Amino acid sequence: MPLTVQKTYLTNNDCYRAGRSLSVQGLMLHSVGCAQPSATAFVRTWNQPGVKACVHGFIDANTGTVYQTLPWTRRGWHAGGSANNTHIGVEMCEPATLHYTTGAHFVDQNPAATQAAVTRTYEAAVALFAQLCRAFSLDPQKDGVILSHREGHQRGIASNHGDPEHLWAGFGLTMDSFRQAVYTALQPQTPPAGKPAVPFLGQVTADALHIRSGPSTDTPIVDTIRDYGVYTIVETAPGPGASRWGKLKSGAGWVSLDYITPV
Ligand SMILES: [Zn+2]
Repeated sequence: MPLTVQKTYLTNNDCYRAGRSLSVQGLMLHSVGCAQPSATAFVRTWNQPGVKACVHGFIDANTGTVYQTLPWTRRGWHAGGSANNTHIGVEMCEPATLHYTTGAHFVDQNPAATQAAVTRTYEAAVALFAQLCRAFSLDPQKDGVILSHREGHQRGIASNHGDPEHLWAGFGLTMDSFRQAVYTALQPQTPPAGKPAVPFLGQVTADALHIRSGPSTDTPIVDTIRDYGVYTIVETAPGPGASRWGKLKSGAGWVSLDYITPV
């Protein structure tokens, strides 16, 4: 299932307003630690002054949709430690079937429904982290690049939290399996060169991908894609400036397929 990312920046949050920049060296995965599946509920409550935390995104537990709450290159307040200077922080929401008692302890009131939600957010996080690894040229298997909040604490770069392993442990999920899944998601599924069958769905892997009026860098730029979105390519052609060009279904123009990965 393609990843959906909606931008809902927390423009009233003090962290957003502080506006410090982040040189992205890694990605930190969190789980919210309370039974709130709705990402928009967090967006609402965090989008105001006086909130002492801010992350780059929330993954909704009901839909798997990512709500991006900070620009990726803005420094967040998610780790409670120096990882804020190096890592993007993303929270997975947790299903309403959990009943937290104390700290990281909970009673699972419907294990099947919980598992479905945990699997959904895990898979969305894999897709998102793969996309971010592409965007920021990160190696998911390099030591320290992808960390959980818990692992960050073990390294002395994050506060003392146990997420998301406190939730994953009951479902056989680990950070090692997560990193492996991100690595696998990054492997090309179809050769980028040659002539892919059209139409196909492709995900943008560049920060800013120019749309040109024709299949060549000699033609004018008519627009720029900045959302890492998934687009339908209806025709491909060779041309200067790219190993191959793809025509957007929308009719907006042509893009370099060097920055499009079939999904
Ligand atoms: Zn956390």
